Amino acid sequence: MGKTPVVYRKKEQVIDAAENSVTNKVERNRLRAPARSDRCEIKKKCGACQLSNMDYERQLKFKQAAAVKMLKRFGHVEEIIGMETPYNYRCKAQYAVRSSGGKAVTGVYQSSTGGTAVTDSCYLNDELSNRIVKYLRKLVNELKIPPYNPKTGKGVLRHIMIRNSAHTGEYMVVLVCRDDYIKNEEKLVKRLCEKFSEISTVVLNVSKSAKMTLGSRERVLFGSGTIEDILCGKRFRISARSFYQVNPVQTEILYNTAIKFAGLTGSERLLDAYCGTGTIGLCAADNVSAIVGAELNSEAVKDARKNAALNGIENAVYYEADSAEYMRKAVRNGEKFDVVFTDPPRAGCSRTFLEALAVCAPQRIVYVSCNPETLARDLGFLVKNGYKVNRIQPVDMFPHTRHIETVVLLTKKQHSKNAAFGDH
Ligand code: SAH
Repeated sequence: MGKTPVVYRKKEQVIDAAENSVTNKVERNRLRAPARSDRCEIKKKCGACQLSNMDYERQLKFKQAAAVKMLKRFGHVEEIIGMETPYNYRCKAQYAVRSSGGKAVTGVYQSSTGGTAVTDSCYLNDELSNRIVKYLRKLVNELKIPPYNPKTGKGVLRHIMIRNSAHTGEYMVVLVCRDDYIKNEEKLVKRLCEKFSEISTVVLNVSKSAKMTLGSRERVLFGSGTIEDILCGKRFRISARSFYQVNPVQTEILYNTAIKFAGLTGSERLLDAYCGTGTIGLCAADNVSAIVGAELNSEAVKDARKNAALNGIENAVYYEADSAEYMRKAVRNGEKFDVVFTDPPRAGCSRTFLEALAVCAPQRIVYVSCNPETLARDLGFLVKNGYKVNRIQPVDMFPHTRHIETVVLLTKKQHSKNAAFGDH
């Protein structure tokens, strides 16, 4: 048989053909969306969007293939849930401020080199946040506020952070400075807030770090120092330093997937391990009888308690504790949980936590992971210790970056004997 001739078609024709074969609206929009990542002026210098050489369609295929590769031995990996509009999704914009020829410039900080790729319009950030940064940069130069210069150690303004809530429309501007002093402070705040009525609070944070981290000292220059956001119908108060997911659209999808997998009926006792500010558990609060949260970071624990109170949720308690320590203690005290949510950092759950979890033997475990490698390791342990994997659902929380988030449902195998400490 002769070779099939290759038919060359224009790119638009290929897209048209693909569009015609796609009936789903989300899929069609994805195909139509311009590959904006290709247009980013600084993509070579920046490096934050590791997948910027691919259009969004391909990025999703790439992530799906990576998730399948890591997780297929545990069962079927459902199709990754992508974003309909995968741009301007971040509700926390961070721009480094540097001095260039004596003037302030803004850019994306590069952790690998400590350098800055100059821009004021990163397309991952909220659009109004980008406009605020642009205006702020002009204002800083006009009011002669000295930008920080890492070479000389002189200057004041190190970086700008802007948080926003799409639900309440509130914006918070955080000016991260070397000292608790900023020249022409009152003029700066007045002009900024006059220009953008959406800004409900401005905070000055004092940071001695060269990196993009916030310091522990801060002073509220305008408003309350917090904004509120709504996730899955619950309110969350966010301060400058609160940990909060950066992609609110996909966070709702992620949490709703986790809650759906948990199969809650209203009578369950829920453990929210690695709970951060309590968001996942609190979103499930209406469908459980009690929530216990365990979290290492004391500030996050305080926020979790405040968030519970803000929503009038009285059946939630939070412990400032290492999740493994908490779990071991709970097992010793004979405490039982019907469902455990676990959402650890990239390193995954600790072995001690997993051992105690297997002894505690909840009916269902919902594992939310930001790293398929450690997820595979931890699933391997749980499958050997009385659990089976029922659902595996990747969710794209960070379009254009290589990060993959996955929600997994595990249920206790029927007739499996409970593990005991020392079995492993
Ligand atoms: N579930 C939350 C937070 C997930 S991020 C959310 O969806 O927003 C992971 C959290 O685990 C962080 O808040 C981190 O402080 C916490 N953490 C890290 N190591 C821990 C440990 N050993 N024990 C308890 N919490 C830990």
